Order: sequence, then C-alpha cells, then structure tokens
Amino acid sequence: MSTDYHLHTPLCHHAVGHPREYVTQAQTRGLQEIGFADHNPMPVQYDNWRMSKDDLPRYVELIGEARETGFPVRLGLECDYIPGYESWIEQLSKLYPWDYLIGSVHYLGPGWDVDNPELVYKFEQVPVDEIWDLYWANYLRCIRSGLFDFVAHPDLPKKFGHRPKTDPRPAYENVVQALIDHDVAFELNTAGWRKAVGEQYPAFDFLKLAAAASAPVLVNSDAHAPEEVGTGFVQAYQLLREAGYRERVQFQGRRRFPVPL
Ligand SMILES: [Zn+2]
Ligand SMILES: [Zn+2]
Repeated sequence: MSTDYHLHTPLCHHAVGHPREYVTQAQTRGLQEIGFADHNPMPVQYDNWRMSKDDLPRYVELIGEARETGFPVRLGLECDYIPGYESWIEQLSKLYPWDYLIGSVHYLGPGWDVDNPELVYKFEQVPVDEIWDLYWANYLRCIRSGLFDFVAHPDLPKKFGHRPKTDPRPAYENVVQALIDHDVAFELNTAGWRKAVGEQYPAFDFLKLAAAASAPVLVNSDAHAPEEVGTGFVQAYQLLREAGYRERVQFQGRRRFPVPL
C-alpha cells in the first residue's frame, strides 16, 4: 500500500490522460491514494510547459472529477522555485485547499530549465560542476523558503547523464541538513529510471544520508501519463529500506503524518 503524490494533467501541455484514468491505474497497481501536482501557473507567460493562470479553476475541477470515483485523490501543485516569485507562490497557496505544495528547481536562471532536452547543449558550454553548484544553491533556497511541504527530484541535473566531477556528498549533506532545519520532506522520484540517466532521483548516497538524519521521505512517480502511475515503486521502497528508512510520510490539508514503510 502506497501513495503517489506527483502526477500531472494535460493542462501543463506535456502530459496525457484524464485524472480518472490515473485513478484506474492506481487501483490496478494497488495504491491506496494518489495526488495531483501539476506545474504551477506563473503570473506572466513564462514557458510552454505549465498550466496557465486561467486553467487553475479547471485543474481543481478535474481533480474533483477524479474524486467522484470514490478513490482518495489529493490536491497538490508542483511549484517552480524561482527567486523573486516567492510572493506569487504565497498567493497561489491561499487560492485552494491544497493538500501539499511541492517545491521544484528546474530553472538555473531565466530561460534555462536544466531538464529541458532543447537546452541540453548548455552542458557543453558550462562546466558541469558549475551547473551543479547553481542547481544546489537554488535547491537550498527552495527548501529554506518555507513555502513547500516537500521538494521534488533532488538531483535532477543528472537527467541526461551529466554527473558531477567532484564528490557530491558535501552537497547532499547540505541539502539534508536544510530539510531537517526547515522541517521539509523530499521525494524519491522514480522518473529517473525512465530517463537517460537510468537512476532514481536522488542517488542512493543521498538516501543513506537522509535516512541517517531521519529526513521525511515519500515515493512518487512524476507520471505524465496514466500508465506511469506507481512505476518503479517496488524497487523504490526496497531502496528506502536498504538506506535505513522504516517510515514514509503522507499529506492532507498541508499536514504531514508518518506511515510505516
Ligand atoms: Zn512535467
Ligand atoms: Zn513533475
């Protein structure tokens, strides 16, 4: 029995399937509860891979339609942490009765989303460790902002296989410490197994440090299609246990509670 709290809808323009179809897949996979967290709107047109402000009511309505199945469905939002937009996220947080807000770092700077396949050439132009430093600096700010219940895909820049040249563990330690200091959870995101890197986010070394510090964790698929709901969960839960975890967390009404693994 598990939850999958990082699911998308077609409103972000790069996911498919009605949320009801995600429910059907969750039932097939034996999940106990799911939650949607589509890419948050921005106050201005920012890129082409998020829902627009005008679609937000429709988003909440779609989740309502999924709830009509009787299956437990949580209402969340995956928010890009972009310095300068903190008050916008605060505004969004008040608009609907969210069960959780996810903080994500995709942007290393304006117009530079590190996981965008069209911008992968940046890895040829900027030293890889500089990219990782930029990413971790933003990730720490994201955690420390206090805006989010959990943070997504902790080591996302490895998506296309670009690993740091230097030992990443000091960065992992900083992130884990920030999670503890600010009482924020993080996800083990199974989408990495479906990408070029072929590894879950975050790396196992991160999981071990996080488990030793008792940083709250949950497992999510980041599904952009119904068939991706709950993918890799058996392996993911096994990794958590190997790392030392005995407990995961769930959310409701932005309250977090622990559940045995
Ligand atoms: Zn997406
Ligand atoms: Zn996502």
